[in-house]
Amino acid sequence: MLTAANTVMKNALTIDLEDYYHVSAFREYVRQEDWHSRPSRILQNTELLLDCLDAAGCRATFFTLGWVAESHPQIVRHVADRGHEIACHSLRHRTVYEMSPAEFREDTSRAKKILEDSSGKQVLGYRAPSFSITEKSFWAFDVLCELVSESMPACVYLHPWELDPEQPRMSGNLTARLRHYFGLSRTLMKFRQLLKDFKFVPLCEISTAEWAIQPRETASVK
Ligand SMILES: [Zn+2]
Repeated sequence: MLTAANTVMKNALTIDLEDYYHVSAFREYVRQEDWHSRPSRILQNTELLLDCLDAAGCRATFFTLGWVAESHPQIVRHVADRGHEIACHSLRHRTVYEMSPAEFREDTSRAKKILEDSSGKQVLGYRAPSFSITEKSFWAFDVLCELVSESMPACVYLHPWELDPEQPRMSGNLTARLRHYFGLSRTLMKFRQLLKDFKFVPLCEISTAEWAIQPRETASVK
């Protein structure tokens, strides 16, 4: 909750620049081939957002779909021209774990190029659709490092229950249970390996400047 004491503290604001029909929750109902036939709301909604940000003197990072840049190149340039950072949110909102490393590389480099061409600025940040860099797709870090040819601060998230294969089983639908329980027995091992391979610090120890210019990713360990 914002209080008087922390209104002077700097926080990061990130926006996923995509339309309402792109979200993963509806992907079973809206096929990608039909995206173009849906009434788009992105131009007016983004304009509203930009006006709010301008009024507050606030700048943000816009994680943008390559598809959005292809369909509305002017919006990407417009957001960048108004002082915001354009970062990458994949080409067509495919989750990372449904792609092979080669497909992910192709997807990301194409999206990055389209976003750089339309914004006229270098794109460094990456956020996976639906936080889909998980233990099944940690290889994505290596691909991202290759694509930007420098080190990449990442934000990894983990819940204590993810290290606990013995936890009591809850009832629920199959998808929810698969998502919750699949891979639990291997998470501890993978987490230990991750700690060996990369250096981690609390968020407050990553300098704002470094965070602002380096690519980053949010990933779940499980
Ligand atoms: Zn998204």
